[in-house]
Amino acid sequence: MATTKIHQIAPHAKTNGTHRASSSNSRNGSRNGSRKASRNGSHTNWGPSTTAIHYGEKKHGVGTNVGTAISRTSTFTFSDTAEMKRWAEGKSDAYIYTRYGNPTLTIAQDKIAALEGAEAAMVTASGMAAISSALLSVLSAGDEVISTYQVYGGSYRLMRDMFPRLGITVRHVESDLEGIEDLLTPRTKALYIETPTNPTLRLVDLRKAVAFAKRHNLVSMIDNTFASPALQKPIELGFDLVMHSATKYLSGHSDIIAGAVAGRADLIKKVRDCVIYLGGSMDPETAFLLIRGMKTLGVRIEKQCDTALKVAKFLEKHPKVARVHYPGLKSHPDHKLASQQMKNFGAMLAFDLKGGLPAARRFCDRTRIFLLAVSLGGVESLVVLPIYTSHYNMSLEELRKASVEPGTVRVSVGLEDPDDLIEDLRQALA
Ligand code: PLP
Repeated sequence: MATTKIHQIAPHAKTNGTHRASSSNSRNGSRNGSRKASRNGSHTNWGPSTTAIHYGEKKHGVGTNVGTAISRTSTFTFSDTAEMKRWAEGKSDAYIYTRYGNPTLTIAQDKIAALEGAEAAMVTASGMAAISSALLSVLSAGDEVISTYQVYGGSYRLMRDMFPRLGITVRHVESDLEGIEDLLTPRTKALYIETPTNPTLRLVDLRKAVAFAKRHNLVSMIDNTFASPALQKPIELGFDLVMHSATKYLSGHSDIIAGAVAGRADLIKKVRDCVIYLGGSMDPETAFLLIRGMKTLGVRIEKQCDTALKVAKFLEKHPKVARVHYPGLKSHPDHKLASQQMKNFGAMLAFDLKGGLPAARRFCDRTRIFLLAVSLGGVESLVVLPIYTSHYNMSLEELRKASVEPGTVRVSVGLEDPDDLIEDLRQALA
């Protein structure tokens, strides 16, 4: 639950069927609400599932929607030109245009902020919109960022291919953060990490990373997609900004592209400016699906973690499998760290086949329940070859640094019955 100031959705004044916004995130990025309880749809002592289901939504009273209303509009009315002038002068928080804010987006933002224990949050059109807007809100030409090697391929390529053109230097560190002090320069502004890593599920020590960032006055940023706030709360440990591909566990049904950034209100305000300038704003329909998905995050993750452990144990014993990468296994090099900083071990795993790439391709071509598809975090179990997908267009040296073997198979464990999944693995490996 949120430990710092939580911002709440303010009731929307409804005039002639039109939402007149007085809510957070419409202009100023966030607004901190009072610690009121219960019937206003916000409570600071709720557990994560109650928060995901009820937080930020005012539901009591006669004839109120129980389902979340979609503000299916691009633009909003002003009451009069005086209100328009107030908005132009920065004195009004009214919703004016959906790229700037929308009541349905605000509900998603408030839930994500509460789940992450953050002061504020911003939703975006994709995970990459969240990551690029967050990084560009912190970094300017001449600045440097230290990033772990093992990050999502898209984030790596953004920093490798685009940042040099913007005059931003990226320095890389291994996930154990060994030698990180040597990478500091007077221009270093931020530390960017991802844990568990994609695709080989190594862990970065969150406490160590935060201590380093605080010691050197850097903005600490983490991609929390693989864990989700159900398993890992970096803000409670001191991180400044948490990013998500909300396409994955937060929404959970493989039916939207979405992103989110949560964190300190002053930083989220800058992220919001970037999203508005670059245009990576979320659509209200997408926000609705994200909100609906988040309501079952807790039960989905719990079940998916249980199944992932069963799948990992099965694979670990299989004679054709060389190595299983799953932090829940005692054989995993970061098992102890995972037990310390995560509530459970997640539903992503990877494994290397003894037969290398040909064996990995044969396996992926033979699964019947596991779908051969990129992405993760949905109810459907998926398999994928990282060298052809998330880590395409990388040299052998880059793949080595990202710990990706040609024969690495990445698995996203869904919500199917565990016995069916294991049977499918058995027949595909036979
Ligand atoms: N972060 C991680 C860990 C991912 O796996 C992905 C996508 O696969 C992203 C970020 C990018 O998210 P999106 O595809 O929603 O832009």
